[in-house]
Amino acid sequence: MHYTVLAGGTGAAKFLLGLTQVVPQEQIHVVVNVGDDAEVWGLHVSPDIDTVLYALSNRLDMARGWGLPDETFRCLQEIGRYGMPTWFRLGDADLATHLSRTEMLRRLPLSAVTAKLAESMGVRASVFPATNDRLRTRIETPDGLLDFQEFFVRDRCRPEVLSVLYSGVPDAQALDAAVHSIREAQLVILAPSNPITSIGPILAAHGMRDALRCTRAEVVAVSPIVGDKAVSGPAGKLMEASGFDVTPAGVARCYHDFLDNLVVHASDAAVAPDIRNDTIGVQVTNILMTSPEDARRLAQFVVDENRTAPR
Ligand code: GDP
Repeated sequence: MHYTVLAGGTGAAKFLLGLTQVVPQEQIHVVVNVGDDAEVWGLHVSPDIDTVLYALSNRLDMARGWGLPDETFRCLQEIGRYGMPTWFRLGDADLATHLSRTEMLRRLPLSAVTAKLAESMGVRASVFPATNDRLRTRIETPDGLLDFQEFFVRDRCRPEVLSVLYSGVPDAQALDAAVHSIREAQLVILAPSNPITSIGPILAAHGMRDALRCTRAEVVAVSPIVGDKAVSGPAGKLMEASGFDVTPAGVARCYHDFLDNLVVHASDAAVAPDIRNDTIGVQVTNILMTSPEDARRLAQFVVDENRTAPR
């Protein structure tokens, strides 16, 4: 018996910390986005996997939303001397993760490396990359294609976005263990994550959408949009560029082919009829996680409201 959570970075980390207060960590499976992965200084960095692992081992710097607490940046300062780019900030302790991952990837696939990192960190949940294949989010701008981290970190989401692409599709295969986890789950939860650049790449892995359509479990998403804005980050801008309304109904449309229920904020109760037209149920509560207690309450709500028998 397990709960499967589809996850990006910051929003998912907050939600997972709530869920671990509600169900045993051993019963949590997390399928994580790899579209944000990047090569930095020759190292393979998986920002969303790291955010999830750090959160589940209670080491995430919650104020920043990424990296480890009490971090120092001496390597970053030094490496600038050699003309290496310093816009992607890697902390000294965090570097140990990227060095270890990169070294292990010479012999093992990303899923096995992730399992080893998780075990070493004392994470008891099962954490799966969405795919072992190379799948990367690219942002099309009037000046050409950007890697996701160039758009997000270096250019601070400022460029005009014409479209969002997933390179590596359709060859990237959904990880078997992730597909199995979704199909066998007692509940599948899409964490509040960016629908285009966090959940989108997960869904783009071949076989993932089929698994979500075929699972006997309920599939429920927590909206990352309240009113007509993302709670944080560029989700609104990227949804608009991808042709979706920046509303909870727009989130429902992103997942129309497999979603059973969408959890929306109390102030969005009025949009329920719009969403129900798409035959998706709407559940209304406070979805803003401003404290660990908020996150616990939201996770408890999601678990309690979706205890229905398998279809
Ligand atoms: P980002 O868009 O690149 O930051 O990528 P993430 O997938 O990590 O996005 C976090 C998403 O979660 C954003 O779209 C936010 O709007 C959303 N989010 C952040 N904090 C909260 C929260 O407390 N509640 C809800 N419902 N959504 C949140």
